[in-house]
Amino acid sequence: MGEHAIVVGSSLAGLCAARVLSDFYDRVTLYERDELPDGPADRTAVPQGKHVHLLMARGAAEFERLFPGLLDDMVAAGVPKLENRPDCIHFGAAGHVLGTNTTLKREFTAYVPSRPHLEWQIRQRAVAIPNVELVPGRVAELLYDVESERVTGVLLDVGDESTPVPADLVVDATGRGTRLPVWLEQWGFGRPTEDTVDVGIDYATQRVRIPVDALQEKVVVAGATHDQPVGLGMLLYEDGLWSATTYGTGKVPPPQNFTEICDAADALLPPHLSAALRAGEPVGDMAFHKYPASRWRRYDLMERFPAGVIPFGDAVVSFNPTYGQGMTMTSIQAGNLQTVLKSGDPDLAGALSRATKKTTWPVWTMNAIGDVALHNATAEDAPWWYLTVGNLFEQFLGAAETDPDLAEWFLRRFSLLDSLYMIPDAKTLGRTVRHNMGLLAVEKFGKARTFVRTRRSRSSRRDRDPVPSR
Ligand SMILES: Cc1cc2nc3c(=O)[nH]c(=O)nc-3n(C[C@H](O)[C@H](O)[C@H](O)COP(=O)(O)OP(=O)(O)OC[C@H]3O[C@@H](n4cnc5c(N)ncnc54)[C@H](O)[C@@H]3O)c2cc1C
Repeated sequence: MGEHAIVVGSSLAGLCAARVLSDFYDRVTLYERDELPDGPADRTAVPQGKHVHLLMARGAAEFERLFPGLLDDMVAAGVPKLENRPDCIHFGAAGHVLGTNTTLKREFTAYVPSRPHLEWQIRQRAVAIPNVELVPGRVAELLYDVESERVTGVLLDVGDESTPVPADLVVDATGRGTRLPVWLEQWGFGRPTEDTVDVGIDYATQRVRIPVDALQEKVVVAGATHDQPVGLGMLLYEDGLWSATTYGTGKVPPPQNFTEICDAADALLPPHLSAALRAGEPVGDMAFHKYPASRWRRYDLMERFPAGVIPFGDAVVSFNPTYGQGMTMTSIQAGNLQTVLKSGDPDLAGALSRATKKTTWPVWTMNAIGDVALHNATAEDAPWWYLTVGNLFEQFLGAAETDPDLAEWFLRRFSLLDSLYMIPDAKTLGRTVRHNMGLLAVEKFGKARTFVRTRRSRSSRRDRDPVPSR
């Protein structure tokens, strides 16, 4: 495709882009303005790294495809691996605790690396690629040639000097704060329109030491609901510490200290989980982060776009982080980039925008429905059917509380496996309706023996000691 590609930003998106481009360009240079640590550690320019990051099963598989050996190395470094082990996962979606307490029928492997660990592992692999070079430096602007309507390189700030660096392709992987829309306007292309959902999310995180045998769970999720606008996620990471993240939706403030986090856990979690958290020892200071809006820059809708540049990762679309999908969607964008480069389409940016639109739309739309229907979010021009679908989906989640097959279906789709569409097929819908009707019949008439059994097993599950070995 060309001799030299530049990637601006060496976070997860930039590293994945560099990996893909290394197969198509003679040289790939990554520029990063932030000081990069030698090991897995927090970074100033990636403040979200201090907060819980779920790596979806699909994302783990995509990262492994790009960087073979990654998952085994992470596990060797202590990253928890959950294989068909629903007993290690407590999953509350919009107030419904999913009934995944039986072994999952289909293979499902989840990995639980911290955000800094995952980036560090991937960075090591990316810089080991012979034609990839990671260079410290801030890209001040992109070089643009008016005549050919093409980006021709970058202007690099090193110390007090600005140096032009030519390239055949520049990838903008600078995250949510990208300047590309401003430059596009300056060059006469106009800005991309933006789809936004004002989610008003406020994160608060505390790292906690909980005795190793106190819990068999390693992933604990209790999503916010309409009536309970505070949600919580707790993950056990590779360093043996838990990360306990709480968040408020719809501009509701999150807990401000560890005691308040424990109070939230009391309200959101089964007693054994909140008791273990309360008995834990907080480590380090709390971290806070504001996430006002999910944002999708609609490059796919622009009529004209310069050659020689592509936006990538969060710079294109940043998803409500409480659904834990951003990194996985970035890995999917990397797959799109690979496909488009292989196709040899001369309109690289256009082809990639279209491919990314296809993979983004189903996930973005379902998130927006959840946000508007369940999380008190506002979205301009939200269609009327968002609320209807949101309410129907709540019925589905209600049924998934006591039907493990529905719960497994949800867990797989939520993990972006099988399909990016969160739409139950007719069989699954039929099962949902039958299940809920059965529960209703029991409630009203005390009939339907099979359903009585289901409800009984549900309550006996609740009463059972969740840590049988204890
Ligand atoms: C609070 C929060 C929680 C999240 N939780 C999850 C989760 O649970 N699961 C999940 O999958 N995703 C989650 N995400 C999303 C995830 O963090 C991102 O999708 C992921 O980090 C990929 O982002 P990126 O590489 O596109 O951008 P970023 O990570 O923002 O990185 C951009 C990089 O570009 C560099 N840069 C910027 N400008 C320049 C410049 N001019 N020159 C050189 N370098 C530059 C920056 O220093 C930085 O390194 C969360 C996000 C937030 C905000």
